[in-house]
Amino acid sequence: MNLSEKDQLYHWHPYTQHQTTGLLPAIVKGEGALLWDETGKEYIDAIASWWVNPYGHANKLVADAIYAQLITLEHVLFGGFTNEPAVRLSEKLLTLLPSNQKKIFFSDNGSTAVEVALKAALQYFYNQGEQRTKVIAFEDAFHGDTFGAMASSGITFFTEAFQGSLIHVDRIPVPVQGREGESLAQLEKLLQTGDYAAFIFEPLVQGAAGMVMYAPEALEALMKLCQAQKVFTIADEVMTGFGKTGKNFACDYLGVQPDMMCLSKALTAGAIPMALTTFTQEIFDGFLDADVNKALFHGHTFTANPTGCAAALAGLSLLESDEMQANIQRIHQKHLAFQSQIAQHSKVKTTRVLGVVFAFEIKTDNTESYYGNLRNKLYHFFIENGIILRPVGNIVYILPPYVITDQQLDKVYQIVERAIEMV
Ligand SMILES: *Cc1c(COP(=O)(O)O)cnc(C)c1O
Repeated sequence: MNLSEKDQLYHWHPYTQHQTTGLLPAIVKGEGALLWDETGKEYIDAIASWWVNPYGHANKLVADAIYAQLITLEHVLFGGFTNEPAVRLSEKLLTLLPSNQKKIFFSDNGSTAVEVALKAALQYFYNQGEQRTKVIAFEDAFHGDTFGAMASSGITFFTEAFQGSLIHVDRIPVPVQGREGESLAQLEKLLQTGDYAAFIFEPLVQGAAGMVMYAPEALEALMKLCQAQKVFTIADEVMTGFGKTGKNFACDYLGVQPDMMCLSKALTAGAIPMALTTFTQEIFDGFLDADVNKALFHGHTFTANPTGCAAALAGLSLLESDEMQANIQRIHQKHLAFQSQIAQHSKVKTTRVLGVVFAFEIKTDNTESYYGNLRNKLYHFFIENGIILRPVGNIVYILPPYVITDQQLDKVYQIVERAIEMV
């Protein structure tokens, strides 16, 4: 049996209906934007392995930093102790984050980063003796698959089986062009009740919804309304963080600062699962008390894992390098050129670009479901042609590692154009 066959025997994969899923390619090696499976077939990883790997697979600098940390101190508990890589990472990150972000809480993945933010928001008001138990989120948001994160997410078939077991979240429309007023009006109405602890959002780009984009000004208006009512604003930058939008963080486009931020995915250069939630001093101070019960009783075993922090430090040094910044600009320019090339195509409905994110919608007669037939046809066409892309319904997006070469990116565009012709 090869790896793919053994995999089918042993594994339950994420977001997978195994009754209708065949053997899955077994990836055995990666380098830069490329991956190879056990048969020797080559793939271009055009979505940076679910947006986690901007600096390329098997990056030597990251690997060396991890190895050096592993043979110095691989892990130590963060309850009652601290460690050097955690301190160095936070010191560095706080110089890059919006200036009001002062405290960092570590966890393991994007969903836990969101849970921590939601729990901190809810408990902040509990500690104050104030009744604020609800949360506001965008329609079609994605914030992860644990319960709080799931409650805040809007993609129904991800969450529908669990209705009734979720915290109370009310949704407002995403302020895409033309719906800004509607979004603002609905938020205003919700806020009148005084029931809300937080408003959570993916700033500027909703990743899992299919790279839905909206303007910084629209988000600013919503955030200002919330902040006027002291409803905490939570920027979930799990996807958008670390250069994907063309700036370090999507929040860098805003004139308003969020109260909390959630970071994961590219945080550790795609090497080690880790996440963090960042806070203003004011929120942190809301947990200070002579009474121990006012503390945030939340923690994960691998919190502030030194090896993860070392990987993150290496990742940040790569992000800040001239080479990587030039790569981000280069990809952005190429996306713009490709956008103007396909925007007028009769089968292309809409196109959008921000930073290294490119997305377009294919014109279809009926509405395509998230994992519908067109999506599956496109997905398999891309895989057959050695390109890893995961369309969302009729939306195809490209979010390549920053190290992708021009030649590799051109190949991705060519296959995408052929896919448009095919449908
Ligand atoms: C992926 C993602 C999450 C969840 O992260 P996991 O590591 O998969 O738990 C949360 N928010 C956003 C915006 C994401 O893209």
